[in-house]
Amino acid sequence: MSRVRNHMSRHQQRSRESYIAPRNSRYRLLIDKSTIHGTGIFAEEAIPRGRKVIEYMGQRLTWAQAARLERKLERRGAPKNDYLAQLNHNWIINGAVRGSGAELINHSCKPNLTPRRIRGRLFFFSRRKIRSGEELTVDYAVGKDAPRRVCRCGAVKCRGTMNLK
Ligand SMILES: [Zn+2]
Repeated sequence: MSRVRNHMSRHQQRSRESYIAPRNSRYRLLIDKSTIHGTGIFAEEAIPRGRKVIEYMGQRLTWAQAARLERKLERRGAPKNDYLAQLNHNWIINGAVRGSGAELINHSCKPNLTPRRIRGRLFFFSRRKIRSGEELTVDYAVGKDAPRRVCRCGAVKCRGTMNLK
């Protein structure tokens, strides 16, 4: 009983902006402080295994445009852009522009989501059943030749880096 009441008051305190827009996911997803890094995305209801959870949306960039953007941010001393996702060998998706919220999903070496590229679009599917309240994670699988990115995901078999080995 008290659990139910707590759950309700938690909802009432949050603004609608704290949720992923319903048009971007058929599941209720909360934007909140991450236990891994900065802001993260949390399931607010159970998600069965093998379901399309969210599409990674944003501005399409060629690899050359994405490289230019990264150099520009670097020159300005801006923090590393974590919102560039590889779609295929032609295109990168910049989730910082017109993103769906999927760009806020943190990296884990033992993720509960897996990326799937379908007809020129990038989706995150559930790898297993996800419980309500769990943070959503995906393996960023940064190239092994790319600059090394430290990982502190906390998984038992954490690689210690977001890069592939
Ligand atoms: Zn890790």
